[in-house]
Amino acid sequence: MRLLADYHTHTNYGHGTGQIEKNIQQAINIGLEELAITEHGPASHSIRRLGVRDSAQLLEIKEEAKAFDHEFEEINILAGVEANVISLDGRLDVPEFILKELDIVLAGLHLWVKPQDWDTGKRLIFDNLIGSKIGLTALEDVRYYNTQALIRAVQNYDIDIVTHPGFQLDIDTIELAKVCKENGTLLEINNSHHQLTVDFINVAVSTGAKFVVNSDAHTSEEIGKVDAALDLIRDANINLEQVINVV
Ligand SMILES: [Zn+2]
Ligand SMILES: [Zn+2]
Repeated sequence: MRLLADYHTHTNYGHGTGQIEKNIQQAINIGLEELAITEHGPASHSIRRLGVRDSAQLLEIKEEAKAFDHEFEEINILAGVEANVISLDGRLDVPEFILKELDIVLAGLHLWVKPQDWDTGKRLIFDNLIGSKIGLTALEDVRYYNTQALIRAVQNYDIDIVTHPGFQLDIDTIELAKVCKENGTLLEINNSHHQLTVDFINVAVSTGAKFVVNSDAHTSEEIGKVDAALDLIRDANINLEQVINVV
């Protein structure tokens, strides 16, 4: 199996270390045809900022990426984002008018975000971190709210890829996969987070949803490294035609 494109990579605009140019050079070195630069949205925070300073910075990144796109003819460069779901009704941390300027939109659930309101903070952060562990919230409820928030984001926005489904926040795979199939949104098989299982892929495959394999690189060296993801594909009951960037 061979990876054609890596659609999920980070840079030093967020908490990655790779510079855009170095990431592109690495992608060319390993023979990729396409590379997307997808920094975390502005709500990504732990004790420090993990993503872009604000949504407008995504357009600065786009400008830089497009200049390199002209310079390096052997590869196609896409400017995008890995946006955060920040409310229970599926709102993203990047406004629609910025998303429309980008070549590719990724979105996912993360624990380390600034939620839009108190309720979201309780359901999507506290309950996932602590609530279910101390018995304050039933596991089924945690999964229900996580899944609903993500599904609504897929329905509300034109999202190309849902990143690392099930990472940090448990979700109902089949419900998400059905909605992704209806909306033409790809499910990611992420090489950096190893929560995905062959069972997840087999369940999602049964809905007819399509997949994309990505590195989620936070350093230049990790660009295009997807060995663990390809191992999962080998073991799963999936036809390669359902994976858009692997031949
Ligand atoms: Zn992520
Ligand atoms: Zn990422």
